Amino acid sequence: MDFCKTHAITLKRRDYSNSSQIATLYTRSRGKIRALAKGSKRIEKKLRGSVDLFSHMEVILLQKGGTGLNLLTEWEPIHDFPAFRKDVERFYAACHVAELADMLTEEGDRSEPLFDLILDTFASLSSTKRTEVALRAFELQTLKLIGCLPELEECANCGRNLTESTAAVFSPVDSGLLCERCNGRKTFRTLSPGTIRAAVFLANASTATWDRLHLPNGISEELVSLSRGCITGVLSRPLETRRVAI
Ligand SMILES: [Zn+2]
Repeated sequence: MDFCKTHAITLKRRDYSNSSQIATLYTRSRGKIRALAKGSKRIEKKLRGSVDLFSHMEVILLQKGGTGLNLLTEWEPIHDFPAFRKDVERFYAACHVAELADMLTEEGDRSEPLFDLILDTFASLSSTKRTEVALRAFELQTLKLIGCLPELEECANCGRNLTESTAAVFSPVDSGLLCERCNGRKTFRTLSPGTIRAAVFLANASTATWDRLHLPNGISEELVSLSRGCITGVLSRPLETRRVAI
């Protein structure tokens, strides 16, 4: 058994008993874990702070080896993002981020940059008027961090530059983008050079600069198509919150 004090973000939680819950957390030092929060539903615990969805907390974990369930022995909220409880669009955007972070990682996967990205995205979604920009940036940057973002600027087949004058498509079979010449008769959604340039920017930009990008409707829709194609390829099935994340 191993005690660990770290920062954590609640991605998911479910009832375990009348008084306890099992939380799926993304932690800074241990990556994604599931842990039993004993007494998290009791009234006296709520006075000190419950294990709330999307909450950024400092926690003490008791990690058990083998198949034993980890224990969350202490948790202290740092920031619970109240904007998500007041605005349904921001709430669903946060759901999408938490779901994606959960589905694209395995228990035990560790990435401090991904922890920071989730936290920064929640902070951005709490205040930005452009939630769709923050969501597209989160999707592309998460794919990049887990090594599943295709090369965006060059055709996967011939190497032709895709940010200048040629339309491209995302080809799941090729795990990359194809230019018009290499696309053949495939009927994937066309991505304009402007969409490719926006994707390159969002995949690399810091959260502080996301708000600078204005996404016209056509580009926004094409970015959704691109990130959905990549994510579905990784998961081999559509996301549950697909309907609310556009
Ligand atoms: Zn090509």
